[in-house]
Amino acid sequence: LWPLVLSFCMVLLISGCIWVLWRIIIRQKKLETMKNDFISNITHELKTPVAILTATNEALLTFGGSKDPEKTARYLRLEQDELHKLQGLVDNIMALTRLEHEEDPPATEETVDLPTLVKSVVARFSGLPGVTIHTQLHVTQEDIRTQPAALSTILSNLLDNAIKYTPADIKPVTLTVTETPHYYRFIIEDQGIGINKAHQPYIFDKFYRVSQGNLHTVKGYGLGLSHVKSLLTRMGGTIRVESQSGQGSTFTIELAK
Ligand code: ADP
Repeated sequence: LWPLVLSFCMVLLISGCIWVLWRIIIRQKKLETMKNDFISNITHELKTPVAILTATNEALLTFGGSKDPEKTARYLRLEQDELHKLQGLVDNIMALTRLEHEEDPPATEETVDLPTLVKSVVARFSGLPGVTIHTQLHVTQEDIRTQPAALSTILSNLLDNAIKYTPADIKPVTLTVTETPHYYRFIIEDQGIGINKAHQPYIFDKFYRVSQGNLHTVKGYGLGLSHVKSLLTRMGGTIRVESQSGQGSTFTIELAK
């Protein structure tokens, strides 16, 4: 009987190994496909702003600008919008390059005034039409030791998502900062489309996007949360999400004091 049990165990072990290898290969293939899609999408999207900028610039040069200040201002605003789009695309490409090489700017800690840092991040979004961000700061120690650039990027990415994934009649987004004896806690709460439980374990993976409902109309490359996660790992922090489809999402970050 023993040889039979032994060979059964061997077969089980070998099939287990093959299964794990198979999963790794599939995952690699999927990542490769997603990366190729990303490159072809982003290349395509770069074309439009460049074409618009070329056309508006040619027009400005042709009619000289000075004769019609209103028209000039309209063209310049158009150029400004397209330059913002280009900036966003370049930021995404840079985020991908950093993720590929697992590198980020040097991790230098500084003493920063937490309310000032939070206010300056929130200010980037407050000017956007229909966007309301409620900020609540409940901390006793306002000077904190942290990596300010990384913390700003983390909060910006989460606020950007909270706004992006909340449909047109934008409901307010809340950013709350609290502290425990050992942690600073940042809570970003929205009342948007939410994330189905089945997708939650994967949203921090590179390129992962939830394919549900009206989400396809929202631009993105599935890199933001993966960047946030890698920055937090470097800072020794954690992130978790609580969400239900259609009920909004709450992202909680904890940073050791
Ligand atoms: P992107 O937003 O560019 O697609 P992210 O990495 O920031 O990439 O997010 C990954 C995915 O997680 C998104 O595509 C979206 O499906 C989901 N997600 C992230 N934040 C939210 C949120 N606040 N509400 C609903 N879904 C979200």
